[in-house]
Order: sequence, then C-alpha cells, then structure tokens
Amino acid sequence: LLGTTVPNIDDSLNNPEDDEDDVVDLAANSLLNKLIHQSLVESSHLVEVLQKDPSSPLYSVKTFEELRLKEEILKGIYAMGFNRPSKIQEMALPMMLAHPPQNLIAQSQSGTGKTAAFVLAMLSRVNALDMFPQCLCLAPTYELALQTGHVVEQMGKFCMNVNVMYAIRGNHIPRGTEVTKQIVIGTPGTVLDWCFKRKLIDLTKIRVFVLDEADVMMDTQGFSDQSIRIQRALPSECQMLLFSATFEDSVLQFAERIIPDPNVIKLRKEELTLNNIQQYYVLCENKKDKYQALCNIYGGITIGQAIIFCQTRRNAKWLTVEMMQDGHQVSLLSGELTVDQRASIIQRFRDGKEKVLITTNVCARGIDVKQVTIVVNFDLPTNQALEPDYETYLHRIGRTGRFGKKGLAFNMIEVNKLPLLMQIQDHFNSSIKHLDPEDMDEIE
Ligand code: ADP
Repeated sequence: LLGTTVPNIDDSLNNPEDDEDDVVDLAANSLLNKLIHQSLVESSHLVEVLQKDPSSPLYSVKTFEELRLKEEILKGIYAMGFNRPSKIQEMALPMMLAHPPQNLIAQSQSGTGKTAAFVLAMLSRVNALDMFPQCLCLAPTYELALQTGHVVEQMGKFCMNVNVMYAIRGNHIPRGTEVTKQIVIGTPGTVLDWCFKRKLIDLTKIRVFVLDEADVMMDTQGFSDQSIRIQRALPSECQMLLFSATFEDSVLQFAERIIPDPNVIKLRKEELTLNNIQQYYVLCENKKDKYQALCNIYGGITIGQAIIFCQTRRNAKWLTVEMMQDGHQVSLLSGELTVDQRASIIQRFRDGKEKVLITTNVCARGIDVKQVTIVVNFDLPTNQALEPDYETYLHRIGRTGRFGKKGLAFNMIEVNKLPLLMQIQDHFNSSIKHLDPEDMDEIE
C-alpha cells in the first residue's frame, strides 16, 4: 500500500471542511502549473500582435543570437536548455529589447514562455555596476515571486554581480539597510511599503517594471490599486510590461489603465473539445454501487491511467481508502495539500508511479496529464445551486482538439441526477451513452 502519498488519511476522515467543495485558488493553481510545467506548452494558433505604432516594422526572431544579447545572458539561456525562442518569445523579445524601450501587454496561457521572456528583458537592461534596484517585478504571492526569482538566478547564472531581492512579507530588512540588489521581485503590499514608507526602493530609478499574472493579481483584494500606485510613481521612460494567462475584458481594462501606449501580444489557447471523447454513464443507487461499477469498469477494460473526480473531499478520501484496501495503486490529490505536495503527487502520477489519481475540483483546471486514457466523474460537477457545472465538466473531460488523443469518460450517476446529465449532453450537443457495467463489450 502506498501510505506515503496519502498522509494520515484515517485521522483526517472527519474534518468538517470535507463536505465543502474544494474551491479553485488562482494563485495556487498558477504556482502548481509552474511546478509541473517543465517544458513549453504547445499551441497551434498564431500569435496576434497589435502594435502601438502600426506603421513601424514588426520584427520576429527565430534564434536567440538574432537578439544580440550579452554573451553571459546567452550562455545562461543555453545552460537552461533553451534552443530557440518559444512562439510568444519570437514576437515579444524583439519588442521587449528594442531601443527606445517599448511597453508591452502579453497574454498567453501558462507554460508558453512569458516568465523566461521578461526575465531575459530584466537581465538585459540591468547595469551590474549600479548598486540599487533597477528592475521591479510584482507577483501575486510569495511563492510565485520566489519562482520568478529562481528563473532570474538560473538565467543570470553567468551575469556577475547581478542579484535578486525579495520584497515579500517576512523578509525583514533592518532599519538603515540599503538595498543594493538590482532586481526586486515582490508582492504589491510589501513593495509599496518598501517604496513609500521605508524608502528602500527609489522608484524614479526603475528601468523595467513587470506586472506578472495580472489576472491572479486582480483576483486579490487591493492588489490592483496598490500596483497602480506603484506604477504612477515610475519615471516615464521606464519600460512597463504586463503579463496574464487569461484575458477577460476586466483584465484588459486593468492592463490598459496601468500600461501606457502598449503593444499587445496574444496567443490564443487551445480550445477544449469533447469531440474525441467517448462518453458513458452508469446508473447507480448509491456510493457503494458507484464503487462497484467502477471496479467492473476497471476489471473490464485495459486502462492506462485514470483520473477520478469527486465533488467533496470526503468522497475522495472514502474512495481512496476503498481502492487502496482493494489493492489498487492510487493517490489522492485534494485541497488540503500544500502546492508542493500537489506538485509531487502530479509528478509521480505523470511518471506512472500510480495508475489512478483521485481528486476534487482542485485539479480540474489547467493540469494536463497526457497519458490519461480514462476520466471518471464519480460525482457530477454541480454548482452551489446544484445545477450542472458545464465548464468544470469540460475541463475535467475535454482534450485539446489538435494535440489530444482519444479518451474515455465515465459518469457515475444516481437516478435522480440523470436530468442533470441530460442537460450536460444537450449543452455540449454530444452524446453520453448508457452503459451496463456488467457488460463492458459495449465500449467502443
Ligand atoms: P509562462 O511564464 O508563460 O508560464 P515559462 O516562461 O515559465 O512560461 O516557461 C514554461 C516552461 O518552458 C519553463 O519550464 C521554461 O523553463 C520553459 N521555457 C521557456 N522558454 C523556453 C524556450 N525558449 N525553450 C525551451 N524551454 C523554454
């Protein structure tokens, strides 16, 4: 049994929070994405560019050499294993490194190379001989700030005397200390404090200002206003860059408020589709019955790896214990785990160490494990009003049309939930077939 992946499962069976739906925490998900994306995310779309000055020529690069970077930065990039710019970097880097500096708003999903791009820009514009902050990067959380700082350290490995400092809560700077590091990465509240109250950072000397994860930032109370206050105190010649994984209108409005005269670059996300997924439902009486059906399915077809979604932590834990007792190799991913623990569970699953991953909605979004052939909805996704949650259904089961392989999806349904399932079927205009779990031959 894999006791190690499910810490103290029995002790925690009676936690009152277990009956609540796990909510999606944007910042935590973003961090998780960073921890598990060790390579670039593919996209079949073209990069869309909106230039501030449409008449100026548009440059794109296919190699890092074309950017005429400092030797030590180029060395850092190659040491990270990058061979050529990513799709978004091809367009964004020439703009970001242009003289005079240009402002940029860039949107593309997590894993497409945004962080690497702005770290490159910061390193290129830093003067190592000036011992004061010259680049300022705002991030929504302490952990995300550290991740970005880590990229600066890697890429800047050969840049002598260029250093990073973190303006995050808990990083106490004694009175009278002078900040000599050139790159400061921090959360808006603490940065504001360092700039205005403690006067540790002189904003008039900042050359590059980066606002990362604008969508997550906006989701946090007060961060938009604090970011705007910081931005207002920057010199007009400071280069301003804003990045976001998603681009709803509200994010774009915020971006345009904070970044004057921007170029805008967008890389559309691969759309999720149910087209290449065979969907089935099994009618069940209760939880035990669902489990039995699951076992039948499991015994009936050859399964690569499976993800099973439950609506509450309690159900997820219950199912994990049941399956473990029956000798299955399963792991449990749920909201009470730290992001590091989640990342390690997902990594183990990716490496094939467990065949089954049981989870709540924490894992429904953004996380793709390519080799998963089967998705099971042990509970149908519903919202607070107990209506079907279409978007979550799509995120759990859908694949990207172009890169996704064929998949199988099973919905375990109590009879009274059947109308909800029919609503889902109609909504997506795709067929969900009834399956008798005793008769697996029906599966195509
Ligand atoms: P984003 O900020 O959009 O989430 P990152 O910059 O973190 O994307 O890049 C995602 C992953 O791809 C990281 O592991 C990063 O090291 C890697 N990566 C970024 N740019 C390149 C590149 N040009 N070539 C290869 N890998 C890259």
